[in-house]
Amino acid sequence: MSDFIRLLPDSVANQIAAGEVIQRPASAVKELLENSIDAGATQIRLIIKDAGRTLIQVMDNGNGMSVTDARMCFERHATSKIREANDLFSIRTLGFRGEALASIAAIAQVELRTRKENDELGTCVVIEGSRVKSQDDVSCPKGTSIAVRNLFFNVPARRNFLKSDAVEFRHIMEEFQRVALVHQDIDFSLHHNDKLVFQLSKENLRQRIVHIFGNTINEKLLPVQVNTEHVSIHGFIGKPESAKRTRGEQYFFANGRFIKNAYLHHAVEQSYEELIPDAAIPAYFLYIDIDPSTIDVNIHPTKTEVNFEHGPLLYGTLRSAVKQALGMFSLTPVLDFDREPSLDIDPPKGYEPKQPTITVDPDFNPFRRPATPSSRPEGLKANRDQWEKLYEVAGSDQGVTQASRQDTLFPDQGSPETVPNADPSSGEAKYFQVQNRFIVAAVKSGLMIIDQQKAHERITYEKIYTALENESIAQQHRLFPLTFQLSPVDSDILSEILSELSTLGFELNELGGGVFVCNAIPANIPVNETREIIDGLLEDFKNNKSNPGSDRRSRMAKVISGRIALKAGKVLLTEEMKLLVEELFSCAVPDIAPDGRSILKILSVQEIEKLIR
Ligand code: ADP
Ligand code: MG
Repeated sequence: MSDFIRLLPDSVANQIAAGEVIQRPASAVKELLENSIDAGATQIRLIIKDAGRTLIQVMDNGNGMSVTDARMCFERHATSKIREANDLFSIRTLGFRGEALASIAAIAQVELRTRKENDELGTCVVIEGSRVKSQDDVSCPKGTSIAVRNLFFNVPARRNFLKSDAVEFRHIMEEFQRVALVHQDIDFSLHHNDKLVFQLSKENLRQRIVHIFGNTINEKLLPVQVNTEHVSIHGFIGKPESAKRTRGEQYFFANGRFIKNAYLHHAVEQSYEELIPDAAIPAYFLYIDIDPSTIDVNIHPTKTEVNFEHGPLLYGTLRSAVKQALGMFSLTPVLDFDREPSLDIDPPKGYEPKQPTITVDPDFNPFRRPATPSSRPEGLKANRDQWEKLYEVAGSDQGVTQASRQDTLFPDQGSPETVPNADPSSGEAKYFQVQNRFIVAAVKSGLMIIDQQKAHERITYEKIYTALENESIAQQHRLFPLTFQLSPVDSDILSEILSELSTLGFELNELGGGVFVCNAIPANIPVNETREIIDGLLEDFKNNKSNPGSDRRSRMAKVISGRIALKAGKVLLTEEMKLLVEELFSCAVPDIAPDGRSILKILSVQEIEKLIR
């Protein structure tokens, strides 16, 4: 009988290993940048073509490699960084597995040029699909340059799974930022398709953060610093008011390596409790220095998930450091493990999530005054009729109301609180406002309570949605064009959604270098909210970047209505309340706000009775 088991050829084994280490161009970027840092470089240039599909090149002025090392480095498990198993517990370098170059060379065409300081000549190795094509002497500067061409040229399945250039390049920028945020002592540059995206010279941490995320972040940063026997933590956190609804500016680094750790994230988030809204996530750039033997970096092949031996201790230290930075140190207990942290966001009571539906009226002009019921198209009218029945004013049912009025303990004295809620002769509803937040009216079946902010969000949402759908939005030109600068990541995103913003009524142009100018905005948004709305749209896009196709119009309408709707706390005149309620009930979905929360509740007489007894 013959034997079946065979050892795989190295090239195949490397290709399989590559699947784990190199998932996309950004993973190769990460490995190459880390190698340059491990090699002690003080200048690193990253050059990308076509989001890394055609070229990823990293040039550094580090130690370089000898002629033999330049070949050896492509072997699997070839590393200069550890020699024995024990070394694994004291790793201070970024790489140590000796897998990256072997993996990259298995799935791309690689050219390596490298020279050590004291060597006269450098060496150039060309390797393709794990096969060395050539090795020659070259004259080259001290350091190493690795050019990776046609990534996945021999793995079509991988190649086909790559996302759009915009998405892949965003991943590359993210990796670049993670590295650049740790090594402020290193000069970095990043070119994409011959365009300079980042140019960072040696600087301090605050400057580095500002150069990556844009000037506006500067005033939002609060310094953090704590040293204990076991750990030292330094860096910055964002001021509470700058917390966004999107992930993106949350960075932990442990011993100079970007890490993800939900437990520590929770520690930071908890320190902000009450200071920021539920859904907001604070920004942070926190650098943890800890004995490497107490962390396990090995639980994930791409090494971003990290376990800490003294997790709870670290949690507590981090929390107190953040609280101290927030200036709350003396106000809140520091190590309160007794409190059960709750992550739930309560849905409103009695609310059952429904898929909001929109019935679109092609003739609806959002800038006309709300239509009267009779002029509503059939779909919406049917809806309105149903609602009308529900909120039919109490007074129109004369018998009952008259009787109950006679029974009332407090006869009509003309003050708003005691005026019966409907004038029986006109059948007209009377509204009053509670706490400047709710509009209350007696209706046939009981008492209707409307959340004024949510109601206005719904009204604005439907107007904007319809206008977007009909591309009929009116524009207002700004007297003074608004210019602003965005971080490279944000400006990339904004360029991507420029055309959609123009159907919305925004006239926005990119001036280059992340600077944008806004000349016109949709007619119905307040001029001074322009920047907030653009930021909101960017945030929303980042949050939903994995499913950009999912009804973008509805999301844009949601973001804008959320920002411009009248807020709780606004005093409303009777006329305004009336108009708001009328407009609300002209909406296709008058009971659910665009964010899925309830807008109104009708307390039935039975419920009121229960409340009182
Ligand atoms: P690891 O970084 O895990 O050791 P790699 O496959 O990334 O494995 O690299 C293999 C070896 O090649 C490294 O240990 C290092 O000695 C050498 N090397 C890689 N890149 C560079 C570089 N830019 N400059 C100097 N040496 C390098
Ligand atoms: Mg490496």
